[in-house]
Amino acid sequence: MTVTPQPTPSHEADVLVVGAGPTGLTAAGDLARAGRSVAVLERWPGMNPVSRAFATMARTLEVLDARGLADDLLAQSHRAPSVAIFAGARIDLTHLRSRYPFVAVTPQTNVDQAVARYAEAQGAAIHRGIEVVALEQDADGVTVTARPKGDDDPDHRSTWRAQYVIGADGSHSTVRRLLGVDFPGRTMLSSVMLADVQLDRGPADGGLTLGSDRDRFAFLAPYGREDAGGAWYRTMAWDRHHQVPDTEPVTPAEVTAVLDRAMGRDVGVRDVGWLSRFHCDERQVRQYRHGRVLLAGDAAHVHSPMGGQGMNTGIQDAANLAWKIDAVLGGAPDDVLDSYHRERHPIGRRVLFQSGLMARGVTLHPRVARLLRNLLVPWALRRSRVRDAVAGSFAGTTLRYPRRPGDHALVGTRATEIPLVDDNVMNVLREGRFVLVRERGGEPVGAPSRVAEAERADHGPAVLVRPDGYIAWAGATVQDDGWFAALTSWTGPVQVTEASVG
Ligand SMILES: Cc1cc2nc3c(=O)[nH]c(=O)nc-3n(C[C@H](O)[C@H](O)[C@H](O)COP(=O)(O)OP(=O)(O)OC[C@H]3O[C@@H](n4cnc5c(N)ncnc54)[C@H](O)[C@@H]3O)c2cc1C
Repeated sequence: MTVTPQPTPSHEADVLVVGAGPTGLTAAGDLARAGRSVAVLERWPGMNPVSRAFATMARTLEVLDARGLADDLLAQSHRAPSVAIFAGARIDLTHLRSRYPFVAVTPQTNVDQAVARYAEAQGAAIHRGIEVVALEQDADGVTVTARPKGDDDPDHRSTWRAQYVIGADGSHSTVRRLLGVDFPGRTMLSSVMLADVQLDRGPADGGLTLGSDRDRFAFLAPYGREDAGGAWYRTMAWDRHHQVPDTEPVTPAEVTAVLDRAMGRDVGVRDVGWLSRFHCDERQVRQYRHGRVLLAGDAAHVHSPMGGQGMNTGIQDAANLAWKIDAVLGGAPDDVLDSYHRERHPIGRRVLFQSGLMARGVTLHPRVARLLRNLLVPWALRRSRVRDAVAGSFAGTTLRYPRRPGDHALVGTRATEIPLVDDNVMNVLREGRFVLVRERGGEPVGAPSRVAEAERADHGPAVLVRPDGYIAWAGATVQDDGWFAALTSWTGPVQVTEASVG
């Protein structure tokens, strides 16, 4: 008997996103907001209940605000003004040039839910319980094969065709494996415990606190949630002399003992909630772009959670990538997509370096080195220039992208702090378009439809802001058509209205 093979169900979208973590959902929401059809495939049937990240940084809050998500998230967050590291040294965030001069401490599940609501509201289709198992690309697009999670029946497979695929499927990325891409690096810390603890003698200042001795460290992040038994914290704790596989269960007694010794006092553990053990790797792919497949978030880089950067970096990868895919789908030159790697790979490398430095600084063992660290770091962090450089880097607010020769010095910096007449930049960016900020008193130019216009409230230069909030052009006046050249270098040819170019 001849069996005619049944065609597997086939689906199409402009962009297919693999992984519904914070990276994939941010990218999906942005692309759907831009009017692209987007499908997200997520292996697990429900939202990831495991709350890993707890620190959302100022720059990420700005990115979320430009999507209308920051206020609700802040209503569920504790605002920590500083991070106490060692020997009285503190990263002080209160001087940040941002409307968010703090770290928002909230479980990652709250961020995941916020970006999921955003992606759905913008029209992205999120398919949960579906895992990607094969991927092939050709000159015109990418074909992905998926199946219900863990289901080996070939009849249950589906195929998905898209012009571009975003691999945002986390540190064990299937997309990365299917591309045959290396993830070079190494394990840097193992047997790290993660738990929610209730303390009746937690740190008094409301900030994030790190305690360490030569053989252990513990980190406490306050959730700002309190009841009769005391305040709740997320803790991360490590003991050099108790290195076991991740599968070894963590007991409340083990967490309590390490926490008390690392903090140098009895912190009064009253209750221990959720517990787990993990190891952390430092790895980064060499290339973020592989033809029509782009890697983002943990699929592209992982590092020590010490600096609280992974989720933040992933969300910012997504914000950088999504508008570029939209631009290329709309006719921009293909090399606009190469700029995703050019801009974000060095940021990922810097995050690996910084969080690694912090982890190595905290776990430093030789007595003399620790003594020097304890003398030098607090002294340096009291200098305002060092304080602001470290805080800005930690919060992501001083991050900048490279500019081209001849560009104004502001090109590549974030536009968030530019004061506008009757509005603010993040609010205008919610439309997902470029923003042309005229010099104060400048006449509207009748910009193309993909550009919103606004007026500056101070005497700074006119600027063109990219959809991800970074400056693409700056000059004395919008009557100078430099902004238009900068715009089309990102978008390709655009329809010009009569008054567009001065
Ligand atoms: C202990 C700890 C503390 C941390 N603290 C912080 C912090 O304070 N701040 C911070 O910024 N970061 C922190 N991080 C890092 C942060 O959790 C990650 O960087 C973040 O979750 C990465 O997001 P992502 O969307 O790139 O990947 P993920 O969140 O891993 O999402 C990837 C998704 O892809 C899905 N998937 C995988 N394979 C497939 C497949 N084949 N098909 C379909 N779907 C698939 C997965 O199910 C998952 O839902 C911490 C991490 C740890 C471990």
